[in-house]
Amino acid sequence: MPAVTADTLTLPRLPELPETTTAWRKVQRVVPARRFLEGEGFQVRRPFPGVDLALADPFLLLDHMGAVEYGPGEAKGAPWHPHRGFETVTYLIDGVFEHQDSAGGGGVITNGGTQWMTAGAGVLHSELPSQELVAKGGLFHGVQLWVNLPKADKWAPPRYQDIAPGDTKLLSSDDGGALVRVIAGDVAGYRGPGMTYTPITYLHATLSPHARLTLPWPEDFNAMVYVLSGRGTTGAEHRPLEEGQLAVFDRGQALTMQADTTWDVLILGGLPLNEPVARYGPFVMNTRAEILQAIEDFQAGRLGVTQVPHVTSADEELS
Ligand code: MN
Repeated sequence: MPAVTADTLTLPRLPELPETTTAWRKVQRVVPARRFLEGEGFQVRRPFPGVDLALADPFLLLDHMGAVEYGPGEAKGAPWHPHRGFETVTYLIDGVFEHQDSAGGGGVITNGGTQWMTAGAGVLHSELPSQELVAKGGLFHGVQLWVNLPKADKWAPPRYQDIAPGDTKLLSSDDGGALVRVIAGDVAGYRGPGMTYTPITYLHATLSPHARLTLPWPEDFNAMVYVLSGRGTTGAEHRPLEEGQLAVFDRGQALTMQADTTWDVLILGGLPLNEPVARYGPFVMNTRAEILQAIEDFQAGRLGVTQVPHVTSADEELS
């Protein structure tokens, strides 16, 4: 259950779009998420990469974490590791994740909050469940999205944006049956808090059973809908879409979706960068030479040093 909820009747309403004259986008394909183990061994569902990268550009990866009910001692994360050349965007629906990075950024992400980390020229970070979540167990559900940086910004200094649960812009569908949380970019002129290097829109919507959500969408943006839970239909042709599936859309002016059950979806799109992509693990650059350089720089400690609180026996003797 997403932590940020609201009475949609009190929220700004998205405009009603003309039914017959709007060019509703059709679904080009539906892609099922595949399961992978990440970090210390937590399971993610990953709908892309898997589709052609060009269809997702400027997005590089989507990892759906959970929803999972951890028992005591079971929660896992991703200890210190490097990134260069893109941004990791972590949105926590349930549970608590703690981030720390070598550029001094860090914080606690919880219950509808987002951490937007621009790795840029390079950073080391750790992403771990809170000690309390590890000790006691509990519900964990979140998403990590990777957003590519344009060639010109790949060497930007690392940046950390802490987007609190209350910072997301909340909207209602025109029928009042769907809640839309704008995390970044804008929809119908309503702007979310995330600062981005490249034009994107990133939304989380909760539709009540049978509610319909329509969104004007920039014609030069690509568009994808990923289902976190529940099922419904989307696209001009009412294509069924259920948990763990990603719909990739053709061009058009607007998106339409209708819920069968309570339906939680991520809706995302952006202006494609159309630049060459060279990727290797945690590094995403434009050329193979830049990847080799990233590996060398990481091995030489030039992406930063970790800030693990570290107590040695010598420290203990001193205190
Ligand atoms: Mn990471």
